[in-house]
Amino acid sequence: MNGHFASVGDEPSKAHYEHGIQVIDGDKEYNSSLNKYLEGTDVAEAGFNYHLISVFGSQSTGKSTLLNHLFGTDFNVMSETERRQTTKGIWMSKNKKGSMAENIMVMDVEGTDGRERGEDQDFERKSALFALATSEVLIVNIWEHQVGLYQGANMGLLKTVFEVNLQLFLKDKQSTPRSLLFFVIRDHIGNTPLSNLRNTLIQDLSTLWTSISKPQGLEKSRIEDYFDFAFSALPHKILQPEKFVSEVEKLGRRFVSGSRSGKNQGEHGEQELEGGVFLPEYHRRIPADGFSVYAEGIWDQIVNNKDLDLPTQQELLAQFRCDEISRECLVAFDEVITPMEEKQAESARIGKPFVLPNLGATGSTTRGKALKTFEVSASRYHKGVYKRKQTELETKIDQRLKTLYHGQLSAAHKSGVASFSDAVSGAVKAGQKSGGAYEFAEIVDAEKTKVLEEYRKEAQSLAIQGVPWTNFKSQYLLFEKELDDVSAKLRKEEMRRLATRVERWVKSRLGDSVGLEFNKLGSGRAGSGAPEEGEKPPTEKDLWDRIWKGFELIVKEAEVRFSDRAESFEASQDEVDVGLWRLRRKSWIALRDKIEEEVMEGNILLKLRENFEDKFRYDEAGVPRIWRPADDIEGIYTKARESTLTLIPLLSRFRLSATHAPPGLPEFIGHQPPGAEPEDEDDLTPIGGVDEEDGKSLEEEMTVLSEGKRQDLVVRFKKTADGVYVEAKRSAIGGVSQ
Ligand code: GDP
Ligand code: MG
Repeated sequence: MNGHFASVGDEPSKAHYEHGIQVIDGDKEYNSSLNKYLEGTDVAEAGFNYHLISVFGSQSTGKSTLLNHLFGTDFNVMSETERRQTTKGIWMSKNKKGSMAENIMVMDVEGTDGRERGEDQDFERKSALFALATSEVLIVNIWEHQVGLYQGANMGLLKTVFEVNLQLFLKDKQSTPRSLLFFVIRDHIGNTPLSNLRNTLIQDLSTLWTSISKPQGLEKSRIEDYFDFAFSALPHKILQPEKFVSEVEKLGRRFVSGSRSGKNQGEHGEQELEGGVFLPEYHRRIPADGFSVYAEGIWDQIVNNKDLDLPTQQELLAQFRCDEISRECLVAFDEVITPMEEKQAESARIGKPFVLPNLGATGSTTRGKALKTFEVSASRYHKGVYKRKQTELETKIDQRLKTLYHGQLSAAHKSGVASFSDAVSGAVKAGQKSGGAYEFAEIVDAEKTKVLEEYRKEAQSLAIQGVPWTNFKSQYLLFEKELDDVSAKLRKEEMRRLATRVERWVKSRLGDSVGLEFNKLGSGRAGSGAPEEGEKPPTEKDLWDRIWKGFELIVKEAEVRFSDRAESFEASQDEVDVGLWRLRRKSWIALRDKIEEEVMEGNILLKLRENFEDKFRYDEAGVPRIWRPADDIEGIYTKARESTLTLIPLLSRFRLSATHAPPGLPEFIGHQPPGAEPEDEDDLTPIGGVDEEDGKSLEEEMTVLSEGKRQDLVVRFKKTADGVYVEAKRSAIGGVSQ
């Protein structure tokens, strides 16, 4: 084998291809490195801007020699001296001559002779089929002296070409591409003008066409339905070398684009001599980057004696190539998108939502690039397949982006909510520190506007025009809703803080006022002290009236404080109602606690003693008594004791003097507003007569001292009073003895 040709199995390096590539070798193996060759010769990226020419003719008629002169190729030429048959196979090389159409690929079909041997005939038929399925122009190389020899080897070859052509187009009725049969008559002596030779050939071809058996449905077809013809004659290469060279050069000028203008077409579809040979209709419309795969498929069908079905082959090619192009597009897509996916997954894993910078711009650019690249390369292939694969690619890309975008918005959502909540809490804290003059609702509004705007910007940056799934309105609304939920929660907390403050204030006020009332008991002259102007003089009997009235006033004031402030939070009426209801309950509980503290055994006993002592030791004018033996100590004692003792039943029950009934606590507290949930321990403390289901009556709620405690208190008070009496008695006697 010739060392300077690339052949099957050779490493595909550019240097190897200087002399072309063996597409099909002697063993009928296809060389899939063809694509490397097309890439190496810059043809692969040419789309449809390339041409294919094949040459036919008897063995050793100077075909390779002609191609090498015409196209500057370096095909194997039989040596003058050895005269042995060259290796069989099909070679391809790119045209190296300028001033021709771009990207002309020339195929040299070797060994197409030996009409006698069956095996050779088989290869001849196969290579003819291969050449016809791919080539626009078929150069038929014949000696001048062979013209008119109908029985000659050439005619046999042409017969094969015609037959396989019909076989091909039986399957491909819709496109029926034509081919140009370009007869190059060699060793033209010049005695017979080319026009005569041409007529002879055309006649022979017509006869040949009539003689071949045509498949069903194509019986009436004419040779011109499939072929155009062109003719050229060349002088003897050895005898007229200079003329040969100049004529070949002239011939070379015809390998440019042509068009089928009326003038350009002669009889029998014959091209005008000077017209460009490449008519668009000859082109097989296989994109250059898919040619190798297509040719391989074609050859596979041919070698395995399968019916060659070009439309099916084109569809298979389209599937293969579209998939390949799609993969390439995805690789480029991955390069940009995968790192972002990984970054997102990682931040999700560690629970730190991360908003990828510039995702929208990067995503849509990368998507657009991938789809554009696919369109440019893949749209050259079978339309149906292309459209399907385009949708597949778009779906794949969009699924990836969708996940990424949703992750992005989820991160934006989480970090937005967090920063909103932080900002509001921070502003509230700062406001509290600086004296509490902050407007909660204003802070919430400002922060909400800020984070909503950020989210809206992010969501909008992800939108891709004409891509419906990139509309994230619903996510935006969800985010806004969550902000409102968070605001509601923060407002609730703020309300709690407010409630706590107000409750503390109520407790402190109650402490003062109730303490004051109970202290008055200690003076024993609550009923005799100087009345304040315009007021009825207070009496011990009015104790509960005053406590209740004071309680009502304090709570009223607290309610005003609470609702004024709550309004500034833009709390809802319901929220305010719940807050006030809780405030009233808690205030009552605080009052009850305070009363309980006052009536604690030691405390109340002390008060009773003071009350008694006041009455016993002081006269009506408030002057301390100096006991004398003549004094009616016992009488005064009994009167004072009985007077103080009347306090015990009074103290035992919280009753208003006017009605002798408990105050209207249930009415005061009011009904539980809907949505009021217990928030702490105090909320769960049942209030008799109010929380009816607890079975505790208002009567019980208003019982300050139980029956047992009351009796106990009576006993103990009497003992205390007795003690005071005995002491007084002693001091009286002692005063006498002095
Ligand atoms: P192929 O087998 O058809 O490719 O023929 P080759 O190109 O290998 O040439 C076969 C032989 O024909 C070689 O010895 C060439 O020198 C010779 N040859 C080439 N061109 C011409 C020509 O134009 N006229 C004649 N008479 N011989 C030629
Ligand atoms: Mg040859």
